[in-house]
Amino acid sequence: MVIAGEDSNDRESLKTLLEEKHPALRGSIVQIRDTVRLHKATGENLAKRVRSIINKAKGVAEKQGPGTRVACLYVHEDFDAVDGPAYVEAHRRVEQEIHHQTDNGHYVLAVAEMEAWMLLFPEALPTVVKTWKLPTKYVGRDTGRFADPKGLLMREVSKAKGRRYTESDAPAVFRAVVDGRHLGAVQGSNSSWTRFWHDVELCGREHLRG
Ligand SMILES: [Zn+2]
Repeated sequence: MVIAGEDSNDRESLKTLLEEKHPALRGSIVQIRDTVRLHKATGENLAKRVRSIINKAKGVAEKQGPGTRVACLYVHEDFDAVDGPAYVEAHRRVEQEIHHQTDNGHYVLAVAEMEAWMLLFPEALPTVVKTWKLPTKYVGRDTGRFADPKGLLMREVSKAKGRRYTESDAPAVFRAVVDGRHLGAVQGSNSSWTRFWHDVELCGREHLRG
C-alpha cells in the first residue's frame, strides 16, 4: 500500500490509522512525498497530476521487487477551507479522476485539515500532553466547520502552561487515539473523517483481499 501526500506528519498519521484497521498491512505501507495539489485542478491538468502520483507509486512498488504491485493508493491533501458544497464538489471531481486512472485508489481530502480530526477526540489530547484540553464549546461539534483547527490546537487547546501543539505532534496524537481505544468514541463529526473510514472499509472488501 502507498500513502502519497505533501506532509510527512499527515502521512504518518494516516499510516497509524490504516494499520489499526488493517493490521496485516504493518510493515508494507510505503510513503511517497508529493506536492499533491489536486483539489483546485481541473481537466487535463488534474489528469496529469493524478497520473504523476500513480506513476510514482508504481515506481516505488517496483523498487520493492519485480512484479510487486500497489495494493492500494491513498492520496492525502488538506482542503484548507471549511466543509460545504465546494468540498463535496472538489472531492468528487478528484476522486472521479483517480478512479478513472486506477481501480484501487482513494482521495483523502481533509476539511479543513487533518488537525480537525484530532478535535473529535478530546479525551486523547491530554494523554499526549497533560495540560492539553479542548474547551467545552468545541466538544461534540462538526469539526469540519472550524476554519483553523491547527490554530485552535495551538491557541486554545495548548494555551495553558505546558507545551504548545506543533504539526510534528500529529502522529503522536493519532497514536494516542488508537492506543487509548478512542477510535470508536468519536465526539462530534467531520464528513472527511467519515468519508475516509468509508474508503477504508471499501478498501478492505475490494482491494486488500488475498
Ligand atoms: Zn483501497
